[in-house]
Amino acid sequence: MSIGHFVDGKPFSGTSQRYGDVHDPATGVVADRVELASAADVDLVVASANRAARRWRDASLAKRTAVLFAFRELVHARRGRLAEVITAEHGKVLADAAGEVQRGLEVIEYACGIPSALRGGFSENVSTEVDSYSLRQPLGVVAVISPFNFPAMVPLWFIPVAVACGNAVVLKPSEKDPSAALLLAEWFAEAGLPEGVFNVVQGDKEAVDALLDHPTVRAVSFVGSTPVARYVHQRATAAGKRVQALGGAKNHMVVLPDADLDLAADAAVNAGFGSAGERCMAISVLVAVEPVADALVTRIADRIAGLRTGDGRRGCDMGPLVTGAHRDRVAGYVEAGERAGATLVVDGRQVVPDGAADGFWLGPTLFDRVTPDMSVYTDEIFGPVLSVVRAASYDEAVALVNANPYGNGTAIFTNDGGAARRFQHEVEVGMIGINVPIPVPMAYYSFGGWKASLFGDLHAHGEDGVRFFTRGKVVTSRWLDPRHGGVNLGFPTQS
Ligand code: NAD
Repeated sequence: MSIGHFVDGKPFSGTSQRYGDVHDPATGVVADRVELASAADVDLVVASANRAARRWRDASLAKRTAVLFAFRELVHARRGRLAEVITAEHGKVLADAAGEVQRGLEVIEYACGIPSALRGGFSENVSTEVDSYSLRQPLGVVAVISPFNFPAMVPLWFIPVAVACGNAVVLKPSEKDPSAALLLAEWFAEAGLPEGVFNVVQGDKEAVDALLDHPTVRAVSFVGSTPVARYVHQRATAAGKRVQALGGAKNHMVVLPDADLDLAADAAVNAGFGSAGERCMAISVLVAVEPVADALVTRIADRIAGLRTGDGRRGCDMGPLVTGAHRDRVAGYVEAGERAGATLVVDGRQVVPDGAADGFWLGPTLFDRVTPDMSVYTDEIFGPVLSVVRAASYDEAVALVNANPYGNGTAIFTNDGGAARRFQHEVEVGMIGINVPIPVPMAYYSFGGWKASLFGDLHAHGEDGVRFFTRGKVVTSRWLDPRHGGVNLGFPTQS
């Protein structure tokens, strides 16, 4: 047996005969294998979605919201089960997996209010006895391609909104942790979603390329690393599709001298090492505006000493990395940082984990005196490595954030409201925290970064999500009355 696809409201096995390994990161064993779809498999899934889309677009808002409310209840009741599946394949600790499910639930709840979000405008008498009004209509079949680090939350950023707007969805989850997507598909079907409206196709680049090129797929929502996001955006827009491609990040947290240093140290540890740093909103650079660096580094190191790294099912603070290859890559950055002359304050390679010997372990790692030319600074490491950069002033700190090619999230820690206000105005980043280290917007706002962290125009969920998954129409209407008529070849204007 292997982990397969979900099409037409039921599990489906493809024809590719290609498979990927799915690990339990806390033990290092290959726990399962996942089918990797061929282009022919993708074709079959898209055809199913297309049949469903033609019917679903005419489902009333009442019918759509009834399904969404039922789906919300199922996910809420079974959130523990979903969290267990996430932990088993991703490795993040159970409490963190539960948090991911909670944030996904919030988007389902937002989508339950779709009748308000889809309301158009109406203007009476734009010209004499002529009215104008706007409609938003679904696109048809849309594709969602998601990364390994949030196997439930990231798909849920898009799917409830896309479905609520009347589209049919094909989800291509990460091949590293493919099972959460299947649970969501089963539960959506149980909630009454008609077959074919939400489908899952497992796979790798071959499946992604088939979706990007498929003429029936009208839009692509992608989340993953920047090189792949850029590629997806270029290829899918060249094929005439609407695309939002969210990429990688290097999030800076600026600490001003007047900040509460205990609060800042707690925040740096939580945001740097939560989910083993495998979050697109993780803090990976702490910019300490002098003279606070020494005091901050001491406080952070003290807190790291109290963290337990180990199996996510054992109540540990931090779990393993997702694969052995990724663990080795992150450890390589630790070596490179040392070689480049950064001060290694805490070395995560020395960690003694509470877990099996072959788990993909790397403990929290802290570097001080990192400079912008070092690879620990320039690259998205996506692991539990926090770099402290010392800045002489507020201006130097902001210049550093703005010079970075990424612009996903950032945070400032200060008790000076004026400085915080200036920061939110000046900083070239899409999501900003003020004394909040991971400023992930609520579902009714939109999630998205700037610069190399997002290719496309519209962000995920909230108002942008509704705009992304619909096309606008404006109707100008006149109902005839006895006074109509008259030939006039001039350009229509108000009268
Ligand atoms: P990834 O780019 O390797 O993979 C993302 C998806 O693309 C997966 O479904 C994968 O199968 C597919 N893919 C991988 N290589 C491909 C290729 N060459 N051609 C076509 N498809 C390909 O990303 P990942 O390692 O799964 O996830 C981690 C990355 O995602 C990090 O860079 C992280 O910052 C980013 N991320 C960003 C956000 C955001 O909101 N900006 C959120 C979560 C994760």
